[in-house]
Amino acid sequence: MPAIPTSKPYRIGRSKTGLGLFATKPIKKGEKIIRYFGPILDSKKKDEDAIENKYLFELNNRWTIDGSVRENVARYINHSCKPNAESDVRPRKRKVIIRAIKDIEPGDEINYDYGTDYFKAYLKPIGCKCEACEKKRAKKRAEARAEKALLKEKEARKAQRKVEKTAKTTKSKKAPKTKTARGTGKTKRATSGAKRGKGKTLNGHRVAVSA
Ligand SMILES: [Zn+2]
Repeated sequence: MPAIPTSKPYRIGRSKTGLGLFATKPIKKGEKIIRYFGPILDSKKKDEDAIENKYLFELNNRWTIDGSVRENVARYINHSCKPNAESDVRPRKRKVIIRAIKDIEPGDEINYDYGTDYFKAYLKPIGCKCEACEKKRAKKRAEARAEKALLKEKEARKAQRKVEKTAKTTKSKKAPKTKTARGTGKTKRATSGAKRGKGKTLNGHRVAVSA
C-alpha cells in the first residue's frame, strides 16, 4: 500500500465543534495522511511576523506555516488530547506531515495534538471539546451525580427515620384519645338511634311508643 493512496483517504465532515476531517478508508498506524501546508512566514520580517490566525504552525523560532489558506485541507483536522494522528514536523524541510499513530477506521475523525501553547491559548479558556476531555467531563458529571444521589438517599433515609420516630411517639400519645373519640361517636349515634327508636315527635309533642 502506498504511503498516500492516490484517492485521498479522508473527507471534510461535520464534527462536534464545526468541521473536521474524517477517514473514508482504513489508515494504518504510521501512514502519512496529509500534509499541513501554506505560505512560510519568516519571523524576521515584520509584516510576516504580524500575521495572526489560529492556523499558524510554528516550525521553529524563525519559520511558521500559515495554514489558513483554502487549499490546506489539513487545517480542518481538529485537536485531540488523545489523538489518532500526530504532526510530524520537519523544520529543515519546512514541512509538516500529519501521520497516523493508530489504525484509523473509516468514519473515524482524524485528530492530532495541537500542543501545549495552542491548548493554553485557545482551548483551555473555552474548555477542550475533544472526545477524551468530553469523556473525562462526562465521568466527572456522572460521579458528581452519583454522589449527589447518594447524599439525597442519605438525607431521605434520615428524614424517614425522623418520621418513623415521630410517628411512634405520636402513636403512643394519641392512640388512646383516638379510641375514646371513636367510642364517643359510636355512643352518640347509638344514643340518638335509641331516642329515635324509643320516641316519636308528633306536632312537637313527644309520644312514647310502646314496645
Ligand atoms: Zn481535550
